[in-house]
Amino acid sequence: MHNVIIIGSGPAGLTAALYSARANMKPLVIEGLEAGGQLMLTTMVENWPGYRDGIMGPELMTEMRAQAERFGAAIVRGSVTAVDLTRAPFSIRTSDAAFSSHSVIIATGASARLLGLPNERPLMGHGVSTCATCDGYFFRGKPIAVVGGGDSAMEEAIFLTRFASHVTVVHRRDTLRASKIMQDKAFANPKISFEWNTEVDDIRDAFKGEVNAILLRNSRTGARKELPVEGVFVAIGHTPNTALFRGQLETDANGYLITHDGTRTSVPGVFACGDVQDHVYRQAVTAAGSGCMAAMDAEKYLDGVPQHLGEAQARA
Ligand code: NAP
Repeated sequence: MHNVIIIGSGPAGLTAALYSARANMKPLVIEGLEAGGQLMLTTMVENWPGYRDGIMGPELMTEMRAQAERFGAAIVRGSVTAVDLTRAPFSIRTSDAAFSSHSVIIATGASARLLGLPNERPLMGHGVSTCATCDGYFFRGKPIAVVGGGDSAMEEAIFLTRFASHVTVVHRRDTLRASKIMQDKAFANPKISFEWNTEVDDIRDAFKGEVNAILLRNSRTGARKELPVEGVFVAIGHTPNTALFRGQLETDANGYLITHDGTRTSVPGVFACGDVQDHVYRQAVTAAGSGCMAAMDAEKYLDGVPQHLGEAQARA
């Protein structure tokens, strides 16, 4: 029986682990399939406070993990396959183990949707990105492309004009999904142009480990052309990793967990932090901040479950 189980090991989950370990809650972290979360797919992180020269994403996650472990957080491999949050203590299963816990912190994150091109993942962090706020700065004076036609794509395209020499928006239809106001802003920006009814067939050049062009195909005419760009921002939406909790926790129309009064979900004793409940900010630092909040909310909740923090401390 655990006091708190944390599902997920990105900045939200590991910060929740750090804070709950330091509060003597003896947290257990189940790290998930993509241990370390989305920062494992990036290269240099320049907006994590405290590193004036930046830090590599994977290195930052290694440090966070070691820091949580230093204070007693247990981190186990594996991915959660089922949860029962209908009654406390809660049950959590992985493919090879079953756990019970008085409280649960969900930090399963969201996954950026990808185009599914063979070169996309290998070039991630080497010219391909899913986060303009994180990586825009690396493209000063360079031509780039943004793929997508929603609000995220327009927001990223507009933001990226601060750095890029030119931004080409590649959209698969001839009308944007983005709100009128965002469309107007994008259309009015002289550094943005559009490729309509167009799909990206390939990103080059995986062999060189850098992006120098994308291959476009017009879906109406079938015409193909190569567009020289040094960066590709894929902005076709995110999917919150909430399939496990469907029907057990309240979500919004897009599947994000709804939290209130800090990080409380619709089930007392179950908390959520990071991108799984935040489709607005989606930053490592905001995820970490909400991980801290979740640990403090869980601690307060456990105060009302008197036998158990005490039991854990007695075992310690
Ligand atoms: P979204 O609204 O779902 O838009 C995704 C875009 O990507 C669509 O244009 C879609 O094309 C395209 N797309 C999806 N799959 C694709 C594929 N495989 N290949 C090529 N294109 C593909 O996602 P979002 O832009 O991330 O926005 C999510 C939510 O957050 C929305 O409710 C949005 O309004 C909100 N948001 C608001 C703001 C703001 O107000 N400042 C900023 C960002 C996001 P189709 O249009 O053809 O489907």
